[in-house]
Amino acid sequence: MLFVLWGIFALAACSGADHKKSAMETRAEMPAEPAGKVVKTDAEWKTLLKPEQFRILREAGTEPPNGDVYQEFKRQGKGTYHCAGCGALLFSSDQKFDSGCGWPSFYDPVKADNVVMKMDTSGGRTRVEVTCAKCGGHLGHVFEGEGFKTPTDKRYCINGGGLKFVPAKEK
Ligand SMILES: [Zn+2]
Repeated sequence: MLFVLWGIFALAACSGADHKKSAMETRAEMPAEPAGKVVKTDAEWKTLLKPEQFRILREAGTEPPNGDVYQEFKRQGKGTYHCAGCGALLFSSDQKFDSGCGWPSFYDPVKADNVVMKMDTSGGRTRVEVTCAKCGGHLGHVFEGEGFKTPTDKRYCINGGGLKFVPAKEK
């Protein structure tokens, strides 16, 4: 009961401070990590996801570059990024960097087991697609050797609309 009250209070405090709706799904609490593979039909996903989340995660869609989600991503402080479909932990602000490409960029996933890479030859190009290991949702692509001064020189170019952000708790 206390938690519920706290949640309502937090929600009210949030909306009071910022009337603008978050472009990226944002939650105060960590979603439960899925125990195994998450398998659902498209009809089931449609009831769970917002249309843009469905388009990105289930139809390998791409959000417009430099959009609201990206602007919000750049303003976000410390926190973790989870799959908007199944809640799996994917990325953390610790590996976030500003690539200037117009999409949220990370140089490494925070939980490598939750991310699966696949060859993608759509659109006449060969790219490496990044998907969620738990639900198979499309996240974006990874590019390597672009010369970014990061520990891996990889750019996980991720659709922020397919992510769920959980801000780090203030200590
Ligand atoms: Zn997922």
